[in-house]
Amino acid sequence: MNPPSPYDLPPLTMAAIFLDMDGTLAPIARRPVDVRVANDMLMLLDLLHTRTEGAIAILTGRPAWQIDDLLAPRLYALAAEHGAGVRMADGKTLTTAARHLDVALLERTVRHALQSIDDIYIERKDHGIAVHYRQAPRQGGLIAEQTTRIAANTEGVEVLNGKMVIELKAVGVNKGLALNTLMAHPPFAGRTPVVFGDDTTDEAAFAQANAEAGMSVRIGGGPIGGMPSCAQFSLANQQALAPFLQAWLSTNTK
Ligand SMILES: [Mg+2]
Repeated sequence: MNPPSPYDLPPLTMAAIFLDMDGTLAPIARRPVDVRVANDMLMLLDLLHTRTEGAIAILTGRPAWQIDDLLAPRLYALAAEHGAGVRMADGKTLTTAARHLDVALLERTVRHALQSIDDIYIERKDHGIAVHYRQAPRQGGLIAEQTTRIAANTEGVEVLNGKMVIELKAVGVNKGLALNTLMAHPPFAGRTPVVFGDDTTDEAAFAQANAEAGMSVRIGGGPIGGMPSCAQFSLANQQALAPFLQAWLSTNTK
């Protein structure tokens, strides 16, 4: 995979931009709560928002309120929790199949199954449970085993693997479907999707953008979790994104 040239990208007036948060807009931190978005990235997003007439959205595993905190004061269109909740550019929100999950019961089940494992962070979201194990990397196999067993025994729940995190979420919720939902509405509709992401959870959005003659850009090279990426392009690392977005803006001077 090669880095894209900013000249390969659609003009900003024709682009719908979709960005992941952790590892894409912001560098990954030891704990999710320690993540911050750099000021220059906030300014770039603001410029892109103006130049695309609002056709920019965040596709994230995080709950919406965390994204709003990280990108304050602007409220961007977003797909939260991998698309379980979608907020349109006009602020209207949609909730998808995930509302049928009993998250409280799921949390109790996960906490019970993983009670003997130290240094993990079990996060209860609105529509699922995330088990973060960045501080206990050798426990990944055991956590995968237990969460897979729970998913097999819980109607409508599936496992989603990310970097140092394993999530239990509703079946049929992913960033590709979320991208579709956003693309069906203004100001995204009729534009060319351009997706930036760094993790296995972004692959569904990459595939959807490819299918719609859009562009997909992986942050960081190489396969993740042993699987090759379906992204068309890659950037070397998270630090390469801001200069790239700046170059895209520069090719679109009015
Ligand atoms: Mg990410």
